[in-house]
Amino acid sequence: SEVYLNDSWHPAGEAMVSVFDRGFMFGDGLYEVTPFYEGKPFKLQEHLARLRYGLREIKLSFETNDLENLIFKALDRAGLSNIDCAVYLQVTRGKAPRTHHFPQQTSPTFLMYAFPVQLKGFRQMEASIMLAPDFRWQRCDIKSISLMANTMLNSEAIEKGHFENVLFRDEKITEGSHSSIFFVKDQKAYTHPEGPHILSGITRKVVIGLCKELGIPVVGEAVSLQEVPEADEIFLTGTTTQILPVTSVLHDDEEIYKSSEAGKITVRLQDAFHQMTRGL
Ligand code: PMP
Repeated sequence: SEVYLNDSWHPAGEAMVSVFDRGFMFGDGLYEVTPFYEGKPFKLQEHLARLRYGLREIKLSFETNDLENLIFKALDRAGLSNIDCAVYLQVTRGKAPRTHHFPQQTSPTFLMYAFPVQLKGFRQMEASIMLAPDFRWQRCDIKSISLMANTMLNSEAIEKGHFENVLFRDEKITEGSHSSIFFVKDQKAYTHPEGPHILSGITRKVVIGLCKELGIPVVGEAVSLQEVPEADEIFLTGTTTQILPVTSVLHDDEEIYKSSEAGKITVRLQDAFHQMTRGL
């Protein structure tokens, strides 16, 4: 398979980046994963807008105008124009002598590749999750390639047999290590408000829109750790996670929430999401 690096295509095994790249040395860069349903883009502009937001926040100047065309070219060249797939994009600050401060001028390193992925709707699936303190930094709104905390936290969940580690900060549930979370209580959907403590998930926003269409009130308020056991329904959202019902929640190895099946509102949202993504 092929990757696009800086300004040309390379066989994946032959693409090379400098050891002095700030992505390698500092994790100084951003990424996106953009989905394609049967080759059709889903919320591509929103993913690009989030990348531009991140670039502004980290003061990295990188031209994004050509990205859309390049992304389609990546699908084409990978022969993925008709199947479920995704494009991974990464921009780092590029190669420079190692200093903490941003160097005066660097030319950013840009990496992109398309890969097949199963976007099956997760309709028959359900997840168990665990809860843990959110020890990430205070700028989770930036989709940084520095994912040490996220990888540590998710690995702990996987080791214990769970799909995801969902995090809390000051007793308030924020999000998962690689997903957003919703709680349903008394027919209302609760999601952590946007801000520095969560990533502005694209799927989260889609689900908020679907709730509005379906007449399900959305409350932009964090759910506290103590409120989790009282939730009527819980589900995760994400680009590849889509809408995934949570049927078990563990905290300190104790099951604090259990549900025998996906909740009614969760299933309605899954159906609406399926219709939306398959009608592209
Ligand atoms: N939060 C985090 C920390 C994530 O890594 C992801 C996956 N990108 C999400 C939320 C979900 O975001 P999206 O719906 O844009 O994939």
